[in-house]
Amino acid sequence: MQTRRHPLIAPAPGTQRELVSLHYGQPGAQKAYIQASLHGDELPGMLVAHHLRLQLGALEAQGQISGEIILVPMANPIGLSQFLLHGHLGRFELMSGENFNRHYPDQIAAVAAAVEPELGMDAAANVTVLRRALKAAVLAAPVDTELQSLRRSLLGLSCDADIVLDLHCDAQALMHLYTETPCWPDCEPLARFLRSRLTLLAQDSGDNPFDEACSQVWWKWDRHFNSQGQRFPIPQACLSVTVELRGATDVTHELAEADARHIVDFLRWRGLIAGDKPELPPAVGDARPLAGSMPIKSPVPGVLTFLKEVGAEVREGDVLAHVIDPITATVTELKSPVDGLFFARDFLRFANAGMRVAKVAGKQALRTGKLLGA
Ligand SMILES: [Zn+2]
Repeated sequence: MQTRRHPLIAPAPGTQRELVSLHYGQPGAQKAYIQASLHGDELPGMLVAHHLRLQLGALEAQGQISGEIILVPMANPIGLSQFLLHGHLGRFELMSGENFNRHYPDQIAAVAAAVEPELGMDAAANVTVLRRALKAAVLAAPVDTELQSLRRSLLGLSCDADIVLDLHCDAQALMHLYTETPCWPDCEPLARFLRSRLTLLAQDSGDNPFDEACSQVWWKWDRHFNSQGQRFPIPQACLSVTVELRGATDVTHELAEADARHIVDFLRWRGLIAGDKPELPPAVGDARPLAGSMPIKSPVPGVLTFLKEVGAEVREGDVLAHVIDPITATVTELKSPVDGLFFARDFLRFANAGMRVAKVAGKQALRTGKLLGA
């Protein structure tokens, strides 16, 4: 294992932070990139990364790592260090207010124009050319701020990978996945290995989150070159997935060790780790449109108490929670707008007016516009 350090732009003299990446195996074959806690206050991924490191270390000692695996065990040194009045604020950069998981740079058009003369009818050769040009463009893009330098370092490590796993968590939730629709055939086995009950599919959900920045280049290049008829075959060469490792306090050795083992099983199944291919576990869930994941909003402020646990299959009109005004004793029912899987809810128990407090995944795409929350 090789450790590499990537210094970020120093926001003030004497305060330089760095990103650390751990490298296993050799470049040349398939490449997997796994990062934890891009939202600095989402800790389950960091513990999974710790267990992955132990398991990958043992596999490396046995000479079993046949692909290239990059692990970034803590993807956001800025967010990890942001505390205000004893509260951890790891989702938005305090300087800019920007979400750490949005606004990854788009080099699609520039790379397409630069490499067009080198493309041909060999899909694998096209992938090699495009990956090399994309990585060069990502690393050459100018950055002015610490946050931009973090985004550039993360994308520079990941943008040429076959598999990208971005480990996050929700507030209180089931294990669930986000990926782009063209990635679903390659994601389906991962969902089985992770025992995930839900994968939310979208294409270009808005504001360029990290996972989509890695996967969308391929289907957008395919559309760019081939929408008027096949000119250059371009496969979906990157499976990029946001893995929501349940809720924010689901940080236990038992869960993390099993999650790490399931990721290793998937990597072995994909051929990045030598040895017998593990059997594909049975599917325990399905894929649904992100546009069908319905936020449950509280129209009033008050004390929030849930009547349903995450994991419940609910029907349209089922009461999921009560919001209680302690002054008037008014009880407001929050109902599911659809039949679906009640997969996530907030951990706060006071609702502001208009606050989104839970999510139910239905099977119909009902929402339009930007699909991700803040
Ligand atoms: Zn997150």
